[in-house]
Amino acid sequence: MLTTAYAEEILEILKLTVAVPSLVKAKSDPFETLIITIISQNTTDKNTDVAFTRLKQYFRITPNSLANASTSQIEECIKPAGLYRNKSCTIQTVSKIIQEKYKGSLNIILTLPFEEARKTLLDMSGVGPKTVDVVLLFSAQKPTIPVDTHVNRVSKRLGIAPKTGDYEIVRLSLQKLFVENDYLLAHQLLIGHGRQFCKARKPLCNSCPINSYCETKGAF
Ligand code: SF4
Repeated sequence: MLTTAYAEEILEILKLTVAVPSLVKAKSDPFETLIITIISQNTTDKNTDVAFTRLKQYFRITPNSLANASTSQIEECIKPAGLYRNKSCTIQTVSKIIQEKYKGSLNIILTLPFEEARKTLLDMSGVGPKTVDVVLLFSAQKPTIPVDTHVNRVSKRLGIAPKTGDYEIVRLSLQKLFVENDYLLAHQLLIGHGRQFCKARKPLCNSCPINSYCETKGAF
């Protein structure tokens, strides 16, 4: 049976063996976190970083500034991250909503109780659960574990989340298993492990530091 002690053992090993991703920083400005996470969809950290740096060179990263910016200029800035038309549209939509409904700041939303804050952010067009959970965890220290593609794959292979579980099932399974203080670390280390060892196509099971904990290690 899976226990918190078991999950913590896995984390202890990963702490010593994988690099923690550094694109989004803990306690960073919530609006910046939101914009970085929108830009990061379906691309690498490196491309996201280039695109966000370019955006920052042209615009102040505030709802007011981006809501009133030229769409084509935002597109040009974030082109290196791909899907730039969709992402520009989402950036401007959320900027306008925050500007018009929330006095230009995410703080009003982030001080709501967790479920209410989550629902309010999810109601914004173009913003999915992973983006919302990243903002809530990193910039508001709310108790959630964002499930990106690495977290999803690694958790299911390890057997700490149901193999056919959707986003919510994986998120809630992980939250049940890890202690709340470790949610951020668990999210980061599962990503790091997915990048370094538990790769999508050819996982490095023989050299995987947690292979003795893995349900599917013999399958590759
Ligand atoms: S043993 Fe293989 S499948 Fe299991 S966690 Fe390690 S790399 Fe992933």
